[in-house]
Amino acid sequence: MRVAITGGLLADEGGAAPGTLLVRDGRIEAVLALGADIGPVDELIDATGLSVLPGAIDLHTHLGDMDQSDRETFFTGTRAAACGGVTTVFEHPLSDPPTLTGDDYAAKLELAARQARIDVGLWGALTPGRLDAMRDQAELGAAGFKAFTCSSGGSYPPVDLATLEAGMEIAAKLGALVLVHCEDGALVDLGAASLQAPAVPLTAERFQASRPPEVELAATLQVLELAGRTGCRLQIVHVSAPAVVDAILAARAHGVQVTFEHTPHHLLLDAAEAAQLGGAAHCAPPVRERALRDGLWARLRAGAPAIAASDHGPFRAAHKQTSGDDLRGVPLGIQGVQETPALILDACVHGDPTGGAPVGLGRAVSMLSAEPARAAGLWPRKGTLRPGADADLVLWDLATPRILDAATQQRGMHQWSPYDGRTVRATPTRVLLRGATLAVRGELSAALTGQIVRPTLAPQLPATR
Ligand SMILES: [Zn+2]
Repeated sequence: MRVAITGGLLADEGGAAPGTLLVRDGRIEAVLALGADIGPVDELIDATGLSVLPGAIDLHTHLGDMDQSDRETFFTGTRAAACGGVTTVFEHPLSDPPTLTGDDYAAKLELAARQARIDVGLWGALTPGRLDAMRDQAELGAAGFKAFTCSSGGSYPPVDLATLEAGMEIAAKLGALVLVHCEDGALVDLGAASLQAPAVPLTAERFQASRPPEVELAATLQVLELAGRTGCRLQIVHVSAPAVVDAILAARAHGVQVTFEHTPHHLLLDAAEAAQLGGAAHCAPPVRERALRDGLWARLRAGAPAIAASDHGPFRAAHKQTSGDDLRGVPLGIQGVQETPALILDACVHGDPTGGAPVGLGRAVSMLSAEPARAAGLWPRKGTLRPGADADLVLWDLATPRILDAATQQRGMHQWSPYDGRTVRATPTRVLLRGATLAVRGELSAALTGQIVRPTLAPQLPATR
């Protein structure tokens, strides 16, 4: 099967140029100048007026509750992702019940393989008393392990520093990644205790004040220190504050192998907007004040190599509703696996909320595809338009305005979004998975299914201290 995609702008992290992409047997065969002889093809796709990008890789989603509850399933979550231009997702072990052991991991793999419409990877767990499970999960394909430095708000146990260091030593030997939710557990608990007054509503402002950026920075500094000591590869998830980015960049400059994520809600919303949105924007770390949000963009503009990840946290709309402005009982999490690529592309290409010069299409590809592929051990098999890569491709209309709402797209199990009503100039018009068309303008092909991805583990790196 040979496919040619021609007439569009081929956009990789290093730049964009008009051209023709040839695909053979699911992989990119060649990148040609426009008008070059392409030989015989089975399918010719006209991409005139469109940009052709590698599919987005979302390293941070919560999709697969094992009891198939009313949150999300691999089927509904990956369907929504596909319609949004995502071709690979990674699922975190923070499900209900959590994926703590090798057996848990095997069961979730089986569920994902049965339901996924796009490629799926599963992160393993780094939790107290279960460090042996890391090796069991690695044997089953886990290339990274999630740890919390504070309560997750659910049943996923947080780590103490000794457990984290021991887990990082195991991960370093395996060549695996350790992904950490960084907020200092003791400071989060103190903040939570300050919110306990029964007669006082939990407003967004009070919640935000209980988990300030200093709480995130305190945990990040400790975790960076342990990564340096152990030589393990580290990813700090959902970084929300510029001081945390600075700490990460300083550690990188000292040889710590650390990558980091930004979510669209931390990049595009500010604290006042989050308070207006109420339950729909209730998340941790909280959405920050405008000056801090703008500081993230200043660092992106200066070249900070961030990964865009949704931290897709699906809940029933009723669970995210507040009575008045009282957030008590509202679960933490924002769903956005589908909107993330469009939001990031729109902000990078047409201008971010700071009003500064756009960071550009290449940076969007870097954030959505290339950096996540490298962090997950999938590069250069995924995340690029280079010959030999999987032909996971998305044709984007980056000109026509569109209003994000549930009526115009196939969402996951639940229809709410904090981005409803926003206008973006970024629409995925066709999504290909390994060269076959998976979705056209949000309509999914019936037959095509995803695969489980088993990333390559990186060799152990020397410790930096
Ligand atoms: Zn998460």
